[in-house]
Formats: sequence, C-alpha cells, structure tokens
Amino acid sequence: MKCVYEINAKDITELDCLGKGYFGVVLRGRWRSHQNVVINCAIKSLYQTNEELKAEISTMTQLRHQNIVKLYGAVLKESLSMVMELCDGGSLKERLLSKHKLKLLATSLLEYSKQIACGMKYLASKNFVHRDLAARNVLLSGDEKIAKICDFGLARNTSDNTDYYFKQSAAPLPTMWTAPEAIRWKKFSEFSDVWSFGVTMWEIFSYGQNPWEDCECYKVPNLIIKGVRLKKPAFCPEDLYNIMYRCWNIESRQRPTFELIEKILFGYHFKFGTYKQA
Ligand code: ATP
Repeated sequence: MKCVYEINAKDITELDCLGKGYFGVVLRGRWRSHQNVVINCAIKSLYQTNEELKAEISTMTQLRHQNIVKLYGAVLKESLSMVMELCDGGSLKERLLSKHKLKLLATSLLEYSKQIACGMKYLASKNFVHRDLAARNVLLSGDEKIAKICDFGLARNTSDNTDYYFKQSAAPLPTMWTAPEAIRWKKFSEFSDVWSFGVTMWEIFSYGQNPWEDCECYKVPNLIIKGVRLKKPAFCPEDLYNIMYRCWNIESRQRPTFELIEKILFGYHFKFGTYKQA
C-alpha cells in the first residue's frame, strides 16, 4: 500500500469497543507516536477481507479535510488495522436520537448539514464517490460541534470515468439512501452521493428517524420511480426541504452539485425563528 504511514503494532494500546460495522470492529485506543506523544485514536480491524480494508486505507490516505475523519496510519504487519482520529462525540445518528435531542437547535442541524456538504464537496473535488453517506456514517468531535464523514469502505475514485459503474462488493447497498440509477444500473457519481446527502439532511431534520420506516425495503425503488419522495420533516423549514427535494431529482444531472449545495446552505441565516435566504 503506497504512501500510508506505517504504525508499529507495539505502539498501539487497544481499549474498549466503540462500535461494530458490517465487516469489522472499531476500538478506542492509544497510539504512542514517533515523537513519543500519546494520541487517543480509533482502531478499525478484524475485517472479513483485507482487500476491503486496504481499499479504505488507500482512500483515506488521500484525504485531508476538517470534515473527514483523519487517518493517522495503518498497522501493516501482523493483522492489518487502520488507526484514525478519535471522534468522541459518537455518531450523528446517535446524537440526533439521544434524549438530549431537545438541546439540538435548528441552527445546529443546519450547521451539521453545512459541514457535511463541505466535506462532500472536497471529496467530489478529489474525484471520490462515497456511496454510503448517511447520518450513521458521520461522527462528531470537538464538543459535538464538528461533523466528520467516516466509513470509506465503499468509496471509490472515479478519476478515469465520471460515473463509476459498481462491480462487486460483499457489502449490501444501503437502499434507502441510494440513488435510483445506482440501484438500477450500479451507476455512481457525485450526483448519486448528492441523493444520499438529501436523505442524510432529511435524517438530520427528522431527529434521526429512519427514512421510509413504514415501507418495505424492496418497494422503495418503485415508489421513487413513481415520484414519491420522503415527506417534509415536521420542524424543517420549507426552503431547506426544497434543497433535499432537489437532491432527489430522478435525473441525476439535474441535481445540484455539492459546491452549489454548500453555497445555498451557507446563504441561509437563522433569524427570528425562521430561515432567511441571503
Ligand atoms: P458499516 O457496516 O457501516 O460498513 P464499518 O464496518 O465500515 O461499518 P464503521 O462504520 O467505520 O465500520 O464503524 C463502526 C462504528 O464504530 C461507527 O458507527 C462508530 O460508532 C464507531 N467509529 C468508527 N470510527 C470511529 C472514530 N474514528 N471515532 C470514534 N468512533 C468511531
């Protein structure tokens, strides 16, 4: 694996479990870095296939942005594992669902949406598609004020083709978050990530509700083709729902880019209880 910073297994101390994913486990840990500084970190390992984890490490090595979880390096000898920055605020999904949810003001919901758009704009500028953007894959750090996109297990670089045609992966596609052209023709692009961003923003303004909760998974793609969309969350301003709605245009090229989404979101100002567009 080129360019990845190699970390010695003896410099890592594994602590408690932070979470489990489809393939592996993420542990809280401490890393004694080469300057002899001890850094709190998260360690992802125990993958079913090393190839998947290698691909994720390669992707993360190429990314540096405040709204993307940072990779410190990887343990390559013994068992492969990925050492990354610790986001001690847990996932955005958990935060939205937590009993403290009333403390989350509309301004914070908008702030999380802006930060995710910012991270995704950067990702698209590097020609990566994430393919699994969802509130569960956004972590919080810095006193829960900073949102960071994580889980690049499905991410791919599309430098050679603007649209990436998905070949194979052991992980199932997250249907409720996935754009129709990606479900039908396995066609992934910035615009399929934009679709998922719309669903993520819907989760944020629904305080962590599951999209299409009352609907059987296999029925959702047909509903979407018929023009049915997720309903406006009760406390979501019309203008912000309109952004989500634009992300769910059946024609992928008619959806806004992340650059435009970021611009629109940064143009909103929360004033006297309503959103005003600048
Ligand atoms: P998936 O099934 O979504 O593909 P995965 O196996 O790729 O999951 P992750 O989603 O990356 O694993 O991580 C699983 C859980 O571990 C996350 O939901 C989160 O709670 C926790 N976690 C992952 N990375 C970190 C981190 N850097 N800091 C803190 N917690 C983390």
